[in-house]
Formats: sequence, structure tokens, C-alpha cells
Amino acid sequence: MEENPNPEAQKFFDMLAIAQAPLWEGCEHHSELSASLVCLNLKFDYNMSEGCFNRMVQLMGVTMPKNNTMFCNFYQAKRSVQKLGLSCLKNDCCPNECMLYYKEISDKSITNCFFCKSDRYLTVNRREIEKKFPVKKM
Ligand SMILES: [Zn+2]
Repeated sequence: MEENPNPEAQKFFDMLAIAQAPLWEGCEHHSELSASLVCLNLKFDYNMSEGCFNRMVQLMGVTMPKNNTMFCNFYQAKRSVQKLGLSCLKNDCCPNECMLYYKEISDKSITNCFFCKSDRYLTVNRREIEKKFPVKKM
């Protein structure tokens, strides 16, 4: 005899079914969830601004058939992924990808890679104010 999932599991399965529905009827390549993940990865891989991301997904949306479920901004893309309990964490990493500044080594006082000694931060002077930015994030 098969047991029904508990209400919390059922809620997750329902959200998963919605997220995995095709972007439009007949779409064979992407669901709202997969499109969100691909677009969010592009945003982070290419350090895309939120404004650029929003315009790109809005263009994608208007080129699709009507009644599509394409999100139209960064907030909605993140939300469709977060509904499933998936989230995005960004951590500083070595520019040569030797190490990730994560957990106990996320402390901002650690300024060089343990392996290749590359700088963790890039210092920029703007209007006589010195600011430090991570060289690379993952
Ligand atoms: Zn390194």
C-alpha cells in the first residue's frame, strides 16, 4: 500500500511540478526552473548587472509565444529558485580558483590565497576614498 506524502512534502512536490512545467505549451527545452537557473548562472558568470539581466529576460519573454511563464526580472528568477529551497551563495575565491574563502576562512582579514598567494582584494581609489573589492567571486 502506497503512503501519501506529508503536507510539507506535498507542497514541495506541487511547487516542483509548477517549476518544471514547460515555459510555454509545446516548449521542449526549458521550464521556468531551468530557465531561471541558466539565466542566473549567466548573470553570475559574466558579472552582469541587474539592469542588464532584467532587459535580457524581458527581451526573451517577448520573443516567446504568448502565455509563456518566463520571469521578467532578477527578483522573480531568484524567487522561482528559492521556492524550492534552493538558494544562491556567493563567496570570494582565488582568481586562479585555488581556494574558496568559505566558512572558517571567510574572515575578511585573510587577504591572500593560501596556495598561489594571489590577492583576494582589488583596491580602488574613487574620489580619494579607498575601497576593496574581491577580485573574484564564485
Ligand atoms: Zn590561488
